[in-house]
Amino acid sequence: MIDGAKGIENLVDRLAVDHILSREEFCYLLENIRPEQDGYLYEKARKQALASYGNRIFVRGLMEFTNYCKNDCYYCGIRRSNQKASRYRLTPEQVMDCCHTGYGLGFRTFVLQGGEDPWFTDDKIAYLVERIRGGYPDCAITLSVGEKDYDTYKMWFDAGADRYLLRHETANPCHYASLHPPQMSSAHRKECLGNLKKIGYQTGCGIMVGAPYQTTGHIAEDLEYMYGLQPEMVGIGPFIPHHDTPFGDRPAGTLRQTLLLLAIVRLMLPGVLLPATTALGTIEPDGREQGVMAGANVVMPNLSPLDVRKKYMLYDNKISTGVEAAANIKELKQRMASIGYEVVTDRGDFRKTLPECV
Ligand code: SAM
Repeated sequence: MIDGAKGIENLVDRLAVDHILSREEFCYLLENIRPEQDGYLYEKARKQALASYGNRIFVRGLMEFTNYCKNDCYYCGIRRSNQKASRYRLTPEQVMDCCHTGYGLGFRTFVLQGGEDPWFTDDKIAYLVERIRGGYPDCAITLSVGEKDYDTYKMWFDAGADRYLLRHETANPCHYASLHPPQMSSAHRKECLGNLKKIGYQTGCGIMVGAPYQTTGHIAEDLEYMYGLQPEMVGIGPFIPHHDTPFGDRPAGTLRQTLLLLAIVRLMLPGVLLPATTALGTIEPDGREQGVMAGANVVMPNLSPLDVRKKYMLYDNKISTGVEAAANIKELKQRMASIGYEVVTDRGDFRKTLPECV
C-alpha cells in the first residue's frame, strides 16, 4: 500500500536509485502524481541527465527519404490506405546532398527514416548506407525503416549502420491489435527489436503517449518492457491525430503526460538517449525545451529537402520549419542556451558506464 503525498516522492526517489518499480507502483505514480509534484520528478530526471551526459544536447539530422508505406497503421498519416497523401521518394543524390548540407551545419548523426517502401529493396538501402558511410566515416548512421528479418538488419549493420529506431508502439498485444491491422503483431515488433540488439545496433524502442485505447496499465507494461530490453534510445512523443486516418477524431496525447513519461524513462534508464520529439514541439511551441527540462537530451531537426517536408505528414500540423529545420540550428542553439544547455557537434553515442546520481 502506498501512502499519500509523501508516497509519490518516495516512489520517485526509489526509481532514481533502483531504476525500476513494480507495474502497480508505476500505475500509482502515473495516476496519483499531482501537478504540484511534477517538478520533483522533473528535477530528479534532469539531474540524472546532467550526471549522465552533462548539459550537452545531441542533434540528429533527420532525412525522411520516402513516405510510401505498405503498412496500414490506423494512426499514421502515411498509411497505405491514405489515398490523399502525396507520395515521394528521395534519390540517392538527394540523400547525399542532405548529408552534405547537414555535415556543414555540424550534424554528425544522419537518420534515414521512411515508410516501409518495397521500392527501396534491402540492397538499395544497403547501398545508401554504404554511400553515407564512405562519404562521412566520422558520422553515425541511424536507420528507421520498420520491420525486417535478422539477415537484412545484419547486412545493413555490416554496410555501416550503427543505430536503429523501431518504436514498439505498445508492449501489450491486445492494445497493439487495436492500433494495427491483423497482419502486424506486437510479437514480431519485439522480435525485431531483440534481433537489432543481438546484432549490436544502438537500438531505440518507444511509444506514442495518449494513443487511442491506451491505459495506465499499458504504459506500466511499456515501462517494464523497456527496462527488460535496455534500449540505448527511447522515442516518446504524444499521439496526434491525422484527419485522414481512422483515428482522425481522437484527442491528442497531452504535454504533461509526455513530460512525466520522459522523466520516468530517464530515471529508469539513466544513460538512455532520449529525444525531445517533433511531436512534442508540435503540441507546444516550447515543448522541446520542456522535454529537456524533464530529462531529454536529443533533438532531431529535419534535413529533408523543403519541398517534401510537408508530405511526410504523420499527423496534423506536424512542424517542419522554424527551429525544427536543420538549417535553423543557430536558433535551436540559442533556445537551448536560454535554458542552460549546449547543442554539440558530436556523434553522441550511448555511454555504457555512467556516474551514479541520486
Ligand atoms: N516505418 C518506420 C517504423 O515503422 O518504425 C518509421 C516511420 S514511422 C512513421 C515512425 C513513427 O511515427 C512511428 O513509430 C509512430 O510512433 C510515429 N507516428 C505515426 N503516426 C503518428 C501520430 N499520428 N502521432 C504521433 N506519432 C506518430
